[in-house]
Amino acid sequence: MTASRLNVVLVLHANHPHEIDRDVESAVVMLKQAGLPLFNQSVLLREVNDRADTLIELSETLFENGIVPYYLHLLDKAAGTAHFDVPPEQAVSLHDKLRQRLPGYLVPRLVREQAGAPYKLPV
Ligand SMILES: *Cc1c(COP(=O)(O)O)cnc(C)c1O
Repeated sequence: MTASRLNVVLVLHANHPHEIDRDVESAVVMLKQAGLPLFNQSVLLREVNDRADTLIELSETLFENGIVPYYLHLLDKAAGTAHFDVPPEQAVSLHDKLRQRLPGYLVPRLVREQAGAPYKLPV
């Protein structure tokens, strides 16, 4: 890393704690050994990870593996994805539960992407 002016960070995309299996864990160990700061972003998906218990387990599993929960996205309104949609009010209420039950550093930022916006918008 000494000759580089770039600080590389890596953002994983896991939506559910069951995605962090043995293979992911061993890959993450190697990335950590290489000195990369690791973050995770998730998309809130109906009937996949729209329960507080699931999101809490995801944050805790990420943390056990040295990964910081970074973003929790509202779903992009792409064709064919309506069955995964979680209404924003429900997302905010879930996010409040995470705030109550997790230390702040394990609460991902609830955001949405908007075409043309220069960054993810807080919800
Ligand atoms: C959000 C996002 C970024 C930008 O990350 P910030 O930390 O918000 O600047 C870069 N790449 C991908 C794929 C992203 O989703």
